[in-house]
Amino acid sequence: MTDPARTAADLAADLDTETALQRFRRMWAELAEIGVTDTGVRRYSWTDEDRQLRDWFADQASSRGMEVHMDRNGNLRAWWGQPEPDSVVTGSHLDSVPDGGLWDGPLGVVLGFLAVDVLQAAQQTGQLETHRSLAVVDYMDEEGARFGVACLGSKLMSGAIAPETARQLTDVDGVSLAEAMQAYGADPQAIGEDAVELARTGAQVEVHIEQGRNLAGALPGSADGAPVGVATAIWPHGRWEFTFDGVADHAGTARLADRHDAALPFAATVLAARSTAESLGEARATFGRFHVEPSGPNVVPSRVVALLDARAADDDTLDTLVETITEAARSAADNHGVACTVTRLSYAPVVEFDADLRDMHAKLAADAGEYLPELPTQAGHDSGILAPRVPTSMLFIRSPHGISHSPREDAANEDVLAGLRALVRSLAELIRRG
Ligand SMILES: [Zn+2]
Repeated sequence: MTDPARTAADLAADLDTETALQRFRRMWAELAEIGVTDTGVRRYSWTDEDRQLRDWFADQASSRGMEVHMDRNGNLRAWWGQPEPDSVVTGSHLDSVPDGGLWDGPLGVVLGFLAVDVLQAAQQTGQLETHRSLAVVDYMDEEGARFGVACLGSKLMSGAIAPETARQLTDVDGVSLAEAMQAYGADPQAIGEDAVELARTGAQVEVHIEQGRNLAGALPGSADGAPVGVATAIWPHGRWEFTFDGVADHAGTARLADRHDAALPFAATVLAARSTAESLGEARATFGRFHVEPSGPNVVPSRVVALLDARAADDDTLDTLVETITEAARSAADNHGVACTVTRLSYAPVVEFDADLRDMHAKLAADAGEYLPELPTQAGHDSGILAPRVPTSMLFIRSPHGISHSPREDAANEDVLAGLRALVRSLAELIRRG
């Protein structure tokens, strides 16, 4: 008997990098033709671009003898082996943000198929015994670019959004999800929590480009950086609406001392958000959207409505962050004779990825003489949505500039190969387990 962990490491070490890179480049070039605009890629769900992506996915599957199933929520899976409970799932999403880059999403799907190539070859040559089926997945509408709700496919699958609510979501043209699915030829009445696919997802490993610079050297204690890392958790995050109500007045004749200028406490709050996040360390606070009323060039602002996006490493830090910003807003509003109200619009608590899967990634890397640093993420993912229901984990691949949701996203060939090795090791270990 060979040691399974050692064999998994061997499989990855023996990877034919030249062939893998050739295939990677070919798949990348095919994808790079879909949904391209002058300013990036636009790949929205249930559109012509979506159909081209799904056709590409089906071609990749059939060239590997894998059967493609679309589940009731529009998620695609290519199966190596029969779809059955407790299977292993890898993949990510093929949709994009408006004017996004090539890497966010497609990297996980492409590496999933490339890992299947390695595992199938190993099985055929008797180097790998498989006891579980493996699926490569493409989750529907991860970015929420068309209907405004991110991770729609995984949220529907896990019951995190009600089907009635999802069906009524509309895009900028007023087309509902139900209408878009119908026009595409899919059945909107079928969407909703999917016990069958949840049961089939025995373990999920999603590879993703890192959305940040931790692996590029920003991680404390790892200045040299690393090509691949393991996600620990998704930061808790939420949105709050701040409304400042003052009094409109003449920008020339109203004496400064007499004004109730709604923009002044808002400005103080923006600065407080930045300094509070800085002082807490593992925190982010951003006012990315706000509007001023009446928005006249010669009128003292009567009202400012602003959205705070706040995130932190844990729930307590996030509470402190938002409370401190709220106190700063109220006190600045008082000073200027302005009323201030704060309303929480959404809140997503911390999500921890599966501890056993994280340990497995780390142990297999150690067996191969590699070190995979652990790092948290501040962005949402399908694997985070599913984590409370099924064991999920994520492997991040270094993004040299840390830029994301932009055509400037990138990754080096060697880092892609390092990610493929880590994925092959983990999938080999998971599918050999009975
Ligand atoms: Zn993504």
